Amino acid sequence: MTMACKICGNSENNTAYQAKEMMLGYRDVHDYFQCGDCECLQLENVPENLPDYYPEDYYSYSEVGFPTGIKRWLLAQRDYYAATGKGFLGKLLFLKNPEAKIATLQLTGIEPHSRILDVGCGAGHLLHSLKEAGFCKVQGADPFNEADIDYENGLKVIKQTIHEVSGSWDLIMFHHSFEHVVDQLDTLRSVAQRLRPDGCCLIRVPTVSSWAWQHYRLDWVQLDAPRHLFLHSIKSMAYLAQQAGLQVDNIVYDSFALQFWGSEQYQQDIALHDDRSYAVNPDSSLFSAEQIAEFEQRSQTLNQEHQGDQVCFYLSKQTP
Ligand SMILES: [Zn+2]
Repeated sequence: MTMACKICGNSENNTAYQAKEMMLGYRDVHDYFQCGDCECLQLENVPENLPDYYPEDYYSYSEVGFPTGIKRWLLAQRDYYAATGKGFLGKLLFLKNPEAKIATLQLTGIEPHSRILDVGCGAGHLLHSLKEAGFCKVQGADPFNEADIDYENGLKVIKQTIHEVSGSWDLIMFHHSFEHVVDQLDTLRSVAQRLRPDGCCLIRVPTVSSWAWQHYRLDWVQLDAPRHLFLHSIKSMAYLAQQAGLQVDNIVYDSFALQFWGSEQYQQDIALHDDRSYAVNPDSSLFSAEQIAEFEQRSQTLNQEHQGDQVCFYLSKQTP
């Protein structure tokens, strides 16, 4: 008998799972269940020592390593095109060297003066790129950072939860942070309160509405026990949004080859951070360059079929 679903309250036909910690390779077991109604897969009880499951450099940041001079200028052109779909030189640079994460912003319709908030942004590298590309009103929030961060280009990342952030925003986004959030509904309600009338909320998360969850089950790399507290389905995210006064306007699948090589490694009991992992030593991993390219190709196909293992939800305020 599992507990009631934390998203929709259903307690019938829920399916229990025991998932191992496999990113760091601790292999300790955590109780999950998938709701029989909304299909959200969720961690039953959040461990008190959850911070112990994050590697030490998870939130690290540094000013060093950002490009300077002409390279900085070219990257700004490329990233402005990625975010808006505008600019000829930027388009050429993007075609040669795409920036998939920033490209997820195109559907949000942001402009240089849009007010943009990134929640759970860690060091804030995405925002740093946007600031460089000419988006002047960007801000980061991450309660798990050690302190506020002030970058030389003017970007600020504040040590705050969404509930503490002030102001109203044209775009509030969560790039693979929402699945780590305990208070799902309260978080979306705080988003709704802080969105401007025409604002957009972008949520990028892994999803169980995918081939990878169907096929790999407990070896699915993005289950990521116990760090991922909620693995939403398309249905459960729509339900949650609606409870918060929001609606899902668009869904874009953006999975990539990790779903294959990461999950295949877990099937062989190889942790993500193991020396034999493709993430650590690509040259001595289980996979050839051709296999990885094929995984990438298959990921594109899955995305087109709405079966990839991660997804971008574009939310707006409900229209009465
Ligand atoms: Zn449910």
